[in-house]
Amino acid sequence: MHSGANVSVQYVKGVGPARKKLFMQLGIETIEDFFYFFPRRYEDRRHLTPVAELKIGEFQTVCGKVLASESRRSWYTKKHVSELILDDGSGRLTCIWFNQPYLEKYFQGAKQVVCYGRVEMYKNRLQMISPEYELINSEEDESLSLKRIVPIYPLTRGMTQRYLRKTIKSCLDKYKDQLHDELPVFLRNKHKLANIKRSISNIHFPESFEDQEAAMRRVSFEEFFFFQMSVILRRLSITHKPGISHKISDSFVLSFIDSFAFKLTSAQKKAIREIRQDMEKGHPMLRLLQGDVGSGKTIVALFGVMAAFKNGCQSAIMAPTEILAAQHYEKILSFSKEGLFNNLRIALITSNLKEAEKEKKYQEIKEGKIDLVIGTHALISQDLNFKKLSFVVIDEQHKFGVRQRALLTEKGSNSDVLIMTATPIPRTLCITLYGDLDVSVLDEMPPGRGKIKTVLYKSEQSSAVYELVRNKVKEGNQAYIVYPIIEESETLDLKAAQTMFKQLQKNEFKDLRVELVHGQLKKDQTQKVMEKFRNKEIDVLIATTVVEVGVDVPNANVMVIEHAERFGLSQLHQLRGRIGRGSQDALCILIGEPVTPEASQRLKALLSTTDGFKIAQQDLLIRGPGSFFGRHQHGLNELKFANPITQLDILELARREAIELTQQDPKLESSINQPVKEIIRKRYPTYLAMVEAG
Ligand code: ADP
Ligand code: MG
Repeated sequence: MHSGANVSVQYVKGVGPARKKLFMQLGIETIEDFFYFFPRRYEDRRHLTPVAELKIGEFQTVCGKVLASESRRSWYTKKHVSELILDDGSGRLTCIWFNQPYLEKYFQGAKQVVCYGRVEMYKNRLQMISPEYELINSEEDESLSLKRIVPIYPLTRGMTQRYLRKTIKSCLDKYKDQLHDELPVFLRNKHKLANIKRSISNIHFPESFEDQEAAMRRVSFEEFFFFQMSVILRRLSITHKPGISHKISDSFVLSFIDSFAFKLTSAQKKAIREIRQDMEKGHPMLRLLQGDVGSGKTIVALFGVMAAFKNGCQSAIMAPTEILAAQHYEKILSFSKEGLFNNLRIALITSNLKEAEKEKKYQEIKEGKIDLVIGTHALISQDLNFKKLSFVVIDEQHKFGVRQRALLTEKGSNSDVLIMTATPIPRTLCITLYGDLDVSVLDEMPPGRGKIKTVLYKSEQSSAVYELVRNKVKEGNQAYIVYPIIEESETLDLKAAQTMFKQLQKNEFKDLRVELVHGQLKKDQTQKVMEKFRNKEIDVLIATTVVEVGVDVPNANVMVIEHAERFGLSQLHQLRGRIGRGSQDALCILIGEPVTPEASQRLKALLSTTDGFKIAQQDLLIRGPGSFFGRHQHGLNELKFANPITQLDILELARREAIELTQQDPKLESSINQPVKEIIRKRYPTYLAMVEAG
């Protein structure tokens, strides 16, 4: 991008190999990356609240002199406790951290410290538990971190706000002039958008919140615009391709709908109608099927499979994990056992197939002796070829990239594609974000499902929770107990699941059948445990987030989630979706204490609703779309700064401009549009490659 700023961070003063590594962890490799490393939030430190005027229960910022800093081991919890007492002249505040013994030294000799956290009153003194902290030791610190609107950046272990702020400031001072504007001038003028240099400055060190908002508007507009351009171009290229047009009769549709022991929901029927129409057309289908966990997506997908089968074609279902692939396989097999799909020949491709077996299956697939192939991304392997693939299902789309999706569809001659996702996205958003897809929504649950009750407990109350679980098990239920794995401290948390497994097995649940699954078990081992759990040979399953997606055990109606504050909201919702799948009411127990406003918002949302759409909306609001969709997972959602929920107006504006431009020049052939095309090529390479290939 901006040529001159495209040099390594090593050229920045004071950045050696160790710091370079830390920056890499934050995704910062070049000076330009610093410019686009945006604050996670801002603190208005123009007027700090004096300690004497702090409001109990609210998140606030305090700046004071260090009166004392010490650490000790709590005889009660065995935790290491660091304590800092701040004095700002109006009063004193105690700040407490656990298990960070290095803090005692860190604060010694500090002139001033800034803390941000929730203020509590404990034994008559004001305190904050695990607040964010910053040292103020020099005039430079003061100028960047006090008496102004201060940017707060996402950090990694070993990196401080203070250092990051200083580094970004010095990069801005030195290299800002090398930023070039990529947004076409006519758009900038038309929408009165500031230039990029000013905008980037105002995002990091704004003088006012108005300046900061205007700057965000500008970068968001730019991001939305190029993103919409790529989406619309891709859409145009698909609708122009020839595809297979399936013959589907009314009677076939009716007999499919009638072939189950239960009535399909009207949402399922509507989705089936939509898929039918698409499959009949002479252009490839590219459709997203959205539906909360348990809404019955599999059956809708099966309709497409049967329609392809009826037309003498093959289908493929690609799932994100082997457990899920196996589950689809069994589910569909059980339908066939009931005589529904007698003649459908199905193959499950897994990584633990023996070589000879695999070859045999591949051969059969190639010869058209298999009608439906189910597997993981093994399906896109080079040596798997189909005779006549015409329908492809991609389950849990957020785990796959645009590229993988394309690879699978290329195996057929422009097969129809159905993408299934349990992450619901609000309607308006969907059109704009997934502008290259058509969308069907299962917004209705099959009748007769139990309700899920969700409650929150503090960690001190865990013995009561275990007692509750015991009682539920005695009533014939099965339970999950889930522990977090968070990337930075994966080993640490894995230990937590393991240690707790040992402890619970020996003590609280000694007379129950307890087992453990986590992501580092071998696949077949995981599968074996899940199998036992499904067969009711396990009462309590201790697990990490491996149980998150799609696992289906209707008798497991109790779930305990430990450290619930550490999970993302959508993840919590997915986890909780594992229970309440039978007709009985289910119980979800969250254990945790939120230490950030975001965490407390997340838990509040989860306690207040089980509606996946509402939860997704909340999650988008709390997190912003970048982390909601997983940043680098697919080109579809490579929005880094712009937030399609809070900035929907800008998104729509940008989309309108993109539509207008593509109407004038659908393939961006005119010479004035070449710069725009180059930028799309750079930012969304897979997209443009697919457009040009098509
Ligand atoms: P999803 O993939 O959307 O999470 P599934 O397709 O796995 O949901 O369906 C969940 C369960 O509900 C399955 O056991 C399925 O057989 C069942 N089911 C699907 N549709 C209906 C319906 N209309 N009525 C009753 N049960 C249904
Ligand atoms: Mg499913």
